[in-house]
Amino acid sequence: MPPKYHIETSQAPNQYQKITRSGIIAWEEGCLKCARCVKKDCVYQVYEKRGLDDRQMLDSLDSACMDCFRCVQNCPNRLIHKGLNPSYKALGDHYWTPEIISGLWFQAESGRIPVSGAGYGGPFSGPGFDAMWTDMSEIVRPTRDGIHGREYISTTVDVGRKAMSIEFGPGGEIASPAPPLVEIPLPVIFDMLPWSPPGDNIPLAFLYGARALGTFAVVRQSGISPATREFLPHAIIYVDGNPGSLKEELLSSARIIEIPDGKDAIALQQRFKSINPALVVMIRLRPGPKITERALALIEQGAEVLHLVADEYGLEEGSEPLFIKERVKEVHLHLVDKGARDQVTIIGGGGIAMAEHMAKLIICGADALSIDIPLLVAMECRVCRRCKEGIACPVELDGVDPVWGSLRIANLMAAWHSQLLEILGAMGIREARRLRGEMGRAMFFEDLEREIFATMGKRG
Ligand code: SF4
Ligand code: SF4
Repeated sequence: MPPKYHIETSQAPNQYQKITRSGIIAWEEGCLKCARCVKKDCVYQVYEKRGLDDRQMLDSLDSACMDCFRCVQNCPNRLIHKGLNPSYKALGDHYWTPEIISGLWFQAESGRIPVSGAGYGGPFSGPGFDAMWTDMSEIVRPTRDGIHGREYISTTVDVGRKAMSIEFGPGGEIASPAPPLVEIPLPVIFDMLPWSPPGDNIPLAFLYGARALGTFAVVRQSGISPATREFLPHAIIYVDGNPGSLKEELLSSARIIEIPDGKDAIALQQRFKSINPALVVMIRLRPGPKITERALALIEQGAEVLHLVADEYGLEEGSEPLFIKERVKEVHLHLVDKGARDQVTIIGGGGIAMAEHMAKLIICGADALSIDIPLLVAMECRVCRRCKEGIACPVELDGVDPVWGSLRIANLMAAWHSQLLEILGAMGIREARRLRGEMGRAMFFEDLEREIFATMGKRG
């Protein structure tokens, strides 16, 4: 049995002042000028150490406060209050919410699963991944306890094309060709970012992280530099320029390469594989209404890995865009129907923001998924998108230390890995491979709504 996959976590403290959920409001007007102000009694000396982070325009009061409420309760004129911090409320947007961003920061800093301790206080349904629930029927007697080690749960998945049969020669030797397959111990690869500050440091942090975790990071062909070369065994080269300019020596040492979909995609795949037959070729597709037929056509022509990438909100292009989980579900079921699903690896990406999204997309039919923005958030990104406009990053991510960044990424992935194990254990499933397409173990809001309300209004 292979050794149990374990992600080492380490302390990787924040480099910038945290934006916390609650903030302090301390009125000066009405102060009774007490002989001893309650502010002096703060055991954390929050008021005495008060400062301003002028880059982020943040008052240190909010992040240093430990929420003991002592000053709030003891001020005789009730001049000190705690309330929702406006800077927190302004984080991200409708999809990348402050709760998601601060949850990612916590996991990246600590490597631990965020636990509220007071049960789930949110709504029970919503758009996208929130319209789906998993069957945790084994949670009361988790026979597969992956985190605490009672039984091994594997999160390893294969990337590549799978042979549907094996042919043997007269001497009993395997005579049919075995397509190249790459195993990753976590069903996650790191994708290119939709926006980020310029420079090599962020891609380098992704590569360091991918190598430490045993997975892969997608790197643009134009981004291959002397500094990134040592990471080639954990890099997926995305062909974003002239394929002819890729040197044979580079193709020979790469393990996975990605090409954009197009009429020449299969011809290009064959060309790369003629140089390096051990190379796994991924085809990157934008999901849309025609994707099911396109996926089948590519598989029939020999495609190995299909990478379906939605936008940062998990949506495809078009006037009535589907969410990534709906499209992956449709593609998966179509390929199952045509008997072609097992030949190919499907990787889904775009809008993956939480560990539960990882499990949900796999249930909808993906073998693995690609993530992008959470890795940047792990390195303290505020999802303010200033970099997209060419404005300076408030947390100076262009100059991030790649090693520190990779520690934060490893911590985040450790927390996600633990959550995936929790989900698999609670579902009674022993490996991530078997979670793929397990739609019978999930409930979908649209299906329930249809079933419940279908009979309403009908006369008996
Ligand atoms: S709530 Fe407690 S920790 Fe926060 S400033 Fe007041 S006394 Fe200090
Ligand atoms: S904090 Fe803002 S400017 Fe910096 S990387 Fe994140 S989105 Fe871009």
